Amino acid sequence: MKQTTIGKQIEISGVGLHTGVDVNMRLRPAPENTGYIFVRTDLDDFEIPASVEYISHCSYATTLMRRGVVLSTCEHLLSALRGAGVDNCFIDLDSIEIPIMDGSSENFIELIEAAGVVTQASPRHILRILERVEYQQGDRRMSVEPAGNFEIDCVIDFQHPFIERQSLKFVFENGSFGKEIASARTFGFTHEIEMLRKANLALGGSLDNAIVLTDTGMLNETPLRFNDEFVRHKILDIIGDLALLGMPIQGKITAEKSGHAVHASLMSKLLKAEHAWEIVEQVD
Ligand SMILES: [Zn+2]
Repeated sequence: MKQTTIGKQIEISGVGLHTGVDVNMRLRPAPENTGYIFVRTDLDDFEIPASVEYISHCSYATTLMRRGVVLSTCEHLLSALRGAGVDNCFIDLDSIEIPIMDGSSENFIELIEAAGVVTQASPRHILRILERVEYQQGDRRMSVEPAGNFEIDCVIDFQHPFIERQSLKFVFENGSFGKEIASARTFGFTHEIEMLRKANLALGGSLDNAIVLTDTGMLNETPLRFNDEFVRHKILDIIGDLALLGMPIQGKITAEKSGHAVHASLMSKLLKAEHAWEIVEQVD
């Protein structure tokens, strides 16, 4: 398997979920072995590579920071790039946060499909898991173990009649991300939103970019896209956060009640456990 990038540059505009600020984003083809690099065009093209080492905080979204320059809510875009099989891409932004679009990765997938995915000359490298690594924090748990492909077994549990306990096993195959995961939207609870707003977060949030749950139902008038849209979105977030490892994984992820902070902790634990993985060329 060879590395890939997008066929041409493409642009999209939207609002940042947490900042509420309008942002223009441009995806550009990148040379082999670039990975994903965010470029702050409003700050002299300052570059922030999408890498575990730049994770700054991850309470309600994954935020990167390099030398004090911040890039927020990168997970849904990175999920789309990884999900569409793109290895190398520059992401130009004229503000601090990736646009939230409809709260899922669907618009990004459409954009990437419109640009096309092109093959490059160098082989693709993957992170092959050799030994099981687990991270646990209270009742939140996440592990990665050897497997023949990339798969995610995810369980979420929320005291809400629309959610309760949802579990889904997703196997990463050609096209499966676009069909099963990409359109699942982010979600929040009305009691949580009040708290977020007080902390100057979720300022761009609306019923157009999130499922908003009340104690017994939801505010959105349009139906859910899947009965288990919530666990599908959790898988979307996991794929986006794991993209910060810099290459696809060959291994099985098991996640129970995980969130961005747990994803980040598992990744740093994994990277430190050098005997637990190897970097190899992807064969088929
Ligand atoms: Zn998300």
